[in-house]
Amino acid sequence: MAQIGTDITAAKAFLEAGNVVGIPTETVYGLAGNALDPDAVLTIFRVKNRPSFDPLIVHTDSLSKLDRLVTHIPEPARRLAETFWPGPLTLLLPRRDLIPDLVTAGLPTVAIRIPRHPLTLALLRSLDFPLAAPSANPFGYISPTSAQHVADQLGNQIPYILDGGSADIGLESTIVGFENDQPTVFRLGGMGLEKIEAVVGPVSVRTHSTSNPAAPGMLSSHYAPRKPLILLAPGESPKPAERVGALAFREPFGGLAPDHQRVLSPTGDLNEAAKNLFAHLRVLDSLPIDTIYAEQVPNRGLGGAINDRLRRASVPV
Ligand code: AMP
Ligand code: MG
Repeated sequence: MAQIGTDITAAKAFLEAGNVVGIPTETVYGLAGNALDPDAVLTIFRVKNRPSFDPLIVHTDSLSKLDRLVTHIPEPARRLAETFWPGPLTLLLPRRDLIPDLVTAGLPTVAIRIPRHPLTLALLRSLDFPLAAPSANPFGYISPTSAQHVADQLGNQIPYILDGGSADIGLESTIVGFENDQPTVFRLGGMGLEKIEAVVGPVSVRTHSTSNPAAPGMLSSHYAPRKPLILLAPGESPKPAERVGALAFREPFGGLAPDHQRVLSPTGDLNEAAKNLFAHLRVLDSLPIDTIYAEQVPNRGLGGAINDRLRRASVPV
């Protein structure tokens, strides 16, 4: 069973020996291994049961280490990195050969991010390699936002989980790629679109694609609980029934047992809603109910990314 602790030296030793460990970030917890070691990367895929066509994000701690990993940094990418790193933003950049094929699923670009968590930044600074880290959950399931979530699902397969408390933002990073140096958003996430556009101007958003299986953050079913989740249309209420639960935005629904419901943010704060989203879905998944109804949130700020996750977690109706 994984040890849970705050010992950076222990985490470093496991990583240098080729093991994978759980790490905290401000988005969600990651399952990290040496990004330059194909065996460590293979272990990440095996532990997560992740298909090898789903590329990983590479984490580093400083812009000065970027030139070693990528061949070109488009001007808008540099501005985004300088403005928002460390932070919940991932950039797709042309990779150097040093990055194993397995990390990028054979793609010519590598996904890179500097995460904003003091423990993980200190760990990254202490290592002489970057960390490949997808979310630390079984493939397709709800992402973990606490060390305990990681332990619950992967604890018997990894030696150590670095405990950095509950994730500050609670949604995966926003992913931005570049074609002819023009930015395109491939996954909505913890960095709001408005903030990105304030730096680089209007961006196109291409988060749904059946023609691009190489980016499964884009898969239409993902981030899902085991129980069927039904996304409510705006203004719609769940049909009252005994074994039914709900994820509500500001207040519980009438007609359903209050203890079968979780509220994302009583004050309507979308940052708080994002932070609670995955933990609340996990709780709902563990209650004695058969169906989870979910209310959509307003689309502003992090709301667009929250609704995106709810759609991917839902079953078609
Ligand atoms: P996770 O770390 O579990 O949130 O997953 C990382 C996600 O990043 C993948 O599912 C892809 O959607 C995306 N990604 C990583 N590398 C690339 C890339 N080179 N091109 C496009 N998408 C990527
Ligand atoms: Mg993931």
